[in-house]
Amino acid sequence: MSKYQHIQEAAYEANMQLPKLGLVLFTFGNVSEADRDLGVFAIKPSGVAYKELSPAKMVIVDFEGEVVKGKLRPSSDTLTHAVLYKHWEKIGGICHTHSVHATSWAQSQRDIPIFGTTHADYNTVDIPCASPMSDEMIKGNYEYETGFQIMNCFKERNLSYEEVEMILVGNHAPFTWGKTADKAVYNSGVLESIAQMAWLTEQINPNAARLKESLIRKHYQRKHGPESYYGQ
Ligand SMILES: [Zn+2]
Repeated sequence: MSKYQHIQEAAYEANMQLPKLGLVLFTFGNVSEADRDLGVFAIKPSGVAYKELSPAKMVIVDFEGEVVKGKLRPSSDTLTHAVLYKHWEKIGGICHTHSVHATSWAQSQRDIPIFGTTHADYNTVDIPCASPMSDEMIKGNYEYETGFQIMNCFKERNLSYEEVEMILVGNHAPFTWGKTADKAVYNSGVLESIAQMAWLTEQINPNAARLKESLIRKHYQRKHGPESYYGQ
């Protein structure tokens, strides 16, 4: 048994959720799961159809982006995953999709305003949209720079990656993360739903107001505070 089997299985299961949740079309999207002790992550191979995936096909890569094990080429977004794992030491899973509504906000280069309590259950802030990449960064190593584009946005806005587990990359699409690949995929599903609701909200009322601060706090603490009482 390979010492990487546990992360290959977790990455496989998480990737297979993407088409089921309607978050990807064709081979779009990729999820990875890391093992911090081994210093590697397992990620989907590039351009392989979901029905042809298997745990053994998940490619093992280190935090510098070098392939450690696997015959297939890893996802073209692998370097973005590697940069985030290397610098954000508490995350264990990353998910990237081009889900329609979240991607539309990214293409509009807009943060998703916090309009309702669904959003507040997960985040107390607008979902950040990182500014489009500079020409300098585009000329460099594109996927590697995407990782810095994400981290720079969090730095500029003084956001914590442990509190806000999602971002829109301007003109591109969303990235989400969490302690595990499974949680990262869950966050992608939540983000897509929030993105769709915010879009409809603006259609129904272009002057819709942001959620008031007291409700933002109340909802977030219901699920995440020291006295949370949501669920079992
Ligand atoms: Zn992409």
